[in-house]
Amino acid sequence: MAVFSAPSFDQHELVAFCEDRSTGLRAIIAVHSSQLGPAVGGLRMYPYADDAAALDDVLRLSRGMTYKSALAGLPIGGGKAVIIGDPSREKNAALLEAMAGFIDSLGGRYVTAEDSGTTVADMAQIAKHTCYVSGLDSHGGGDPSPYTAYGVYCGLRAALQQQRGSDNLDGVRVAIQGAGAVGSHLARRLIEDGATVLVADVNPTLLTPLQVLGAEVVEPASILSQPVDVLAPCAMGAVLNAETVQQVRASIIAGAANNQLATPAQAQQLADRGVLYVPDFVINAGGIIAVYHQRQHGGALSADAESTLLQHVEGIGDKLGLIFKRAAQQLCPPHVVAEAMAEEVLLAQGRQAATEN
Ligand code: NAD
Repeated sequence: MAVFSAPSFDQHELVAFCEDRSTGLRAIIAVHSSQLGPAVGGLRMYPYADDAAALDDVLRLSRGMTYKSALAGLPIGGGKAVIIGDPSREKNAALLEAMAGFIDSLGGRYVTAEDSGTTVADMAQIAKHTCYVSGLDSHGGGDPSPYTAYGVYCGLRAALQQQRGSDNLDGVRVAIQGAGAVGSHLARRLIEDGATVLVADVNPTLLTPLQVLGAEVVEPASILSQPVDVLAPCAMGAVLNAETVQQVRASIIAGAANNQLATPAQAQQLADRGVLYVPDFVINAGGIIAVYHQRQHGGALSADAESTLLQHVEGIGDKLGLIFKRAAQQLCPPHVVAEAMAEEVLLAQGRQAATEN
């Protein structure tokens, strides 16, 4: 399996392959950049089809974290870790302890947090063996998904403002793919604001509570092509490929999933079809913003600290407003503009560090 020539390898600072035969742990930790600070990013557990798929995921996700934190104005770098395995069958205390040992051995270059396939309870387990963990209940933190959902809500409204000159959600039709932690919080907020919500999930048990609130349930296979104003992918990455972009009938795509575009080409394909694609790594930064604030305080947030955190998350809408404006001026997809803006942040920090030395 090639690493340096892997399609998603992009000057990553460190890629660690972790194997512990006694527990069956096979994991990869990737630090894309620690230029702005220690690399922070979730620990994902997923039954990847093969090692190359796991490597591709961790390389893409860690790079996305660098860009996400840079644009969210956070002094932290980009990292991610993946455990290859089925969390429902293969996750146990010994495996998490072995993973904690590998994280600890990096001495703080990578700080972990929960992600798909891991929970706040898993982070508490890992924290018994390393201090390089965020998102713990005991730190006043825990599940970051309500903040991610709030950021998506703010970003979705910024996109409506850009496209329609109003961010009023009354009567706006939104199709949400995935009624998990983020998707369900988002659905509730949108329904509260008068939006019509269509939702799909491969796990039907998650849909009933949203149906009770008034959401319309649709088949997972048809969610991307619903005749709606906004499509909110909140399930998995790479859902927008050359084929599926042709099926999208929404004029805005604004969702939480990381790496929604299968390849960079889809940014232009969506723009050519008149679809405003809101860059995922900007709109879904609410969770990492929360993790940062909670880690700074090292305990439960006071009302003032919580209000500062919420204002920071609301800034996602303002940042997107700037990105949309620049994109319109440069006739360029917002995703491309957002990447360029993140690189500007990194360059500026590099210049400042050089003058200080
Ligand atoms: P989750 O696992 O709680 O929810 C995802 C949901 O998607 C699950 O209920 C799953 O059954 C469903 N799903 C999977 N495949 C589907 C399909 N084909 N069609 C419909 N539904 C499908 O995850 P989450 O925490 O809600 O995160 C959602 C997405 O947002 C993920 O891609 C995650 O990486 C990203 N994200 C989450 C956070 C966070 O704070 N949780 C932060 C940033 C990004």
